[in-house]
Amino acid sequence: MSARKWNFGAGPAMIPLPVLKRAQSEFLDYDSTGLSIMELSHRSDTYEALNNRAQVQLRQLLNIPENYKIIFMQGGGHTQFAAVVYNLIAWRHRQNKQNNVGSGDWKDIPVDYVVTGSWSAKAVEEAKRLGANVRVICDAKKALGGFKGVPEESTWKTSDPQGELRTADRASGQTPAYLYYCDNETVNGVEFPFVPSLQDPAVPVVCDMSSNILSRPVDVSKFGVIYAGAQKNIGPAGVSVVIVREDLLQTSELSDGLLPIPLMLDYKTMAKNNSLYNTPPMFAIYISSLVFEWLLDSAAQRVQDGEAYQDGKNLIGVEAAAARNERKASKLYKALEESKFCRIVVTDKQSRSKMNIPFRISKAPKNDPNAVPNKAEDEAMEAAFVQQAEARGLLQLAGHRSVGGIRASIYNAMPEEGVDVLIAFLKEFEAQY
Ligand code: PLP
Repeated sequence: MSARKWNFGAGPAMIPLPVLKRAQSEFLDYDSTGLSIMELSHRSDTYEALNNRAQVQLRQLLNIPENYKIIFMQGGGHTQFAAVVYNLIAWRHRQNKQNNVGSGDWKDIPVDYVVTGSWSAKAVEEAKRLGANVRVICDAKKALGGFKGVPEESTWKTSDPQGELRTADRASGQTPAYLYYCDNETVNGVEFPFVPSLQDPAVPVVCDMSSNILSRPVDVSKFGVIYAGAQKNIGPAGVSVVIVREDLLQTSELSDGLLPIPLMLDYKTMAKNNSLYNTPPMFAIYISSLVFEWLLDSAAQRVQDGEAYQDGKNLIGVEAAAARNERKASKLYKALEESKFCRIVVTDKQSRSKMNIPFRISKAPKNDPNAVPNKAEDEAMEAAFVQQAEARGLLQLAGHRSVGGIRASIYNAMPEEGVDVLIAFLKEFEAQY
């Protein structure tokens, strides 16, 4: 690891070193073809085998039921903000038509959003821009005075115990096309400690897991759609993984007066063609497949766990990652709690992300509610922190440009050793003042 530095950036994130080395060794000659993976035809048997293998690996890792399709799509989270709107409104439109409810106008179909940070807020913006009838059923900023946690589900606007809203919705053809949330808000460091449970089973749950997919086990059967841009926990930017329940692919067609789904955003087209409708981002999918393989390899996972972890569990896959992520995050949060300068941004402990940990540095005494922080001085200290960290090979610790501060992103590929190095630096930095 000596020549390599520790990347605490939120994404593109670290790729496991054994994966990079393997890719390096196969770079000029993939699978004895005499060509790089980038030069192969996407219609070749060799590529098709890789495409299928990556799906099998991901299905195994997340225990994805058979009635879910796995799609590799071009683009990232922003692409999916739009794809979700098109696909699920077209699905609900068809449902309404079959059940003879609703006005028939797609713009009347509600779509429900839970906003717990910048990325779900951006997804709302995109849905509105496309003309969807957006209902924000929970806004954490309003409910908690900032993106500091996940408001309890009982406070969301759909969660009326009598189900009156839903009964009324259904009778008038107003059942929402979906309920949307972002499982881990990368900028704000807020991660859902639960899967929404009180929702109408007729409303598919759509989840953006871009920054925490494969970091812990997930019960896929609770979701209609899970998507994730690759560049945090999976692989290079340019590909997104979409896991979609098969029945949701039954969408209305053009003739129904719907906004047509652009083919490149159409889950049905992608699924029908096994993610080979057009030229896929083959290199990104190839690296993703190597990352899946790394997660499934018990020897590789033991190496990643390092000497510090010796409870002999010998885990693989997301279970290994989850145990490691738990240890990494809890030791970093503990160090931040104990520090005199550092303030963890997310105050609701249950909703603290295990992947992205934003904090502020301030000289004002932590336990004195009357202390007035000196903003300029504190920001100068944060800048010094980032700069000194870089000099030690701890890279990209600056918070997102929209919020400032510091953010440590510790995805699956970050070994526990990297977190230990960061904690040691934190203590050293503090000792200077
Ligand atoms: N959703 C989440 C949770 C993200 O963290 C990001 C980017 O960081 C996005 C969506 C947007 O992804 P992209 O930049 O791939 O469009």
